[in-house]
Amino acid sequence: MKVIERLNQAEKPLFTFELLPPPKGADITKLYDSIGKLIEFNPAYVNITYHQQEEVFKKRPDGLLEKQIVRKRPGTVAISAAIKYKYGVDVVPHIICGGFTKEETENALIDLNFLGIKNLLVLRGDPPKNQRYFTPETGGHQYAIDLLKQIVNLNEGRYLDETIQNSSATDFCVGVAGYPEKHIEAPNMKTDLQHLKEKVDAGADYVVTQMFFDNQKYFDFVENCRNIGIEVPIIPGMKPITTLSDVKLLPKVFSIDIPEDLSCELDKCKTNEDAWQVGIEWSVKQSKQLVEFGVPSLHYYTIGRADNIREIAKNIF
Ligand code: FAD
Repeated sequence: MKVIERLNQAEKPLFTFELLPPPKGADITKLYDSIGKLIEFNPAYVNITYHQQEEVFKKRPDGLLEKQIVRKRPGTVAISAAIKYKYGVDVVPHIICGGFTKEETENALIDLNFLGIKNLLVLRGDPPKNQRYFTPETGGHQYAIDLLKQIVNLNEGRYLDETIQNSSATDFCVGVAGYPEKHIEAPNMKTDLQHLKEKVDAGADYVVTQMFFDNQKYFDFVENCRNIGIEVPIIPGMKPITTLSDVKLLPKVFSIDIPEDLSCELDKCKTNEDAWQVGIEWSVKQSKQLVEFGVPSLHYYTIGRADNIREIAKNIF
């Protein structure tokens, strides 16, 4: 079923979560273990992230460094299909601009369509780790909206090769990302919201937010979106704090605030286990308040950890 149909039919907030494909060299069982811990809470769908290739420098026998391009977490399409058919649950693979030409993207979309996967989360992707700015692949897309438009075209039966006749149309339901605390590169909130509106006007069915730890930021974001005519469901994305270092790392990487109350609680923690527990408690509190607010769904970023999401889900679903 399409995500938007699930959201429209839901009588109470849906439970959904996001998984990372295993790193190259690992097998899929750890991912299945994570799903096994969460499946009893009846997830409406499961998201699978996409990771673009990175440049790594490897030492050659002569001592010089050689640049190599590697994709550390391949397999999003195959993993999505494996999960869909093993658990009978809908999946939402992420599709990104970074590292792909339009032709490669079209071929991936054709594969997904043949696999019966009807839901996508469409993103630009971050710059690779050692690059400051996002650069599209030659013949690829600059912004998520450009990729979204390619999918909308395919949903209307328009492929890149315009000479294809009697083409079959796809029927993808598409989500896009939104940022309650502004995207890191956006000059200001107003401009960022305008770009989000452009994605929705171009055909996005719903929005999933970046993680946040202060619900007020989400409430204000929803209000600001509604004020400029963004009417689609806005799903809050949440990640519990897992380690002591999160308090410094998350604001730096995602350009988000850690509220004072939470950072005070974390200051009292002596070990990562303490921080893990604070993370669960904060997330339960956040989730309960979001449910009261009437969110359509609660979406959790597992980042490879499912035990904490299980504890939160036990309290909410
Ligand atoms: P865009 O919507 O293209 O926006 C990027 C920036 O450009 C913003 O500052 C925006 O304001 C600006 N902008 C947009 N349109 C225009 C325009 N026409 N002209 C000028 N400026 C414009 N990354 C991954 O690599 N893989 C994943 O699986 C992944 N999953 C994610 C899931 C969620 C829910 C979220 C919130 C993020 C995820 N990301 C993922 C990270 C995401 O790729 C980055 O945040 C990325 O930097 C921006 O992606 P976007 O789709 O929001 O980009």
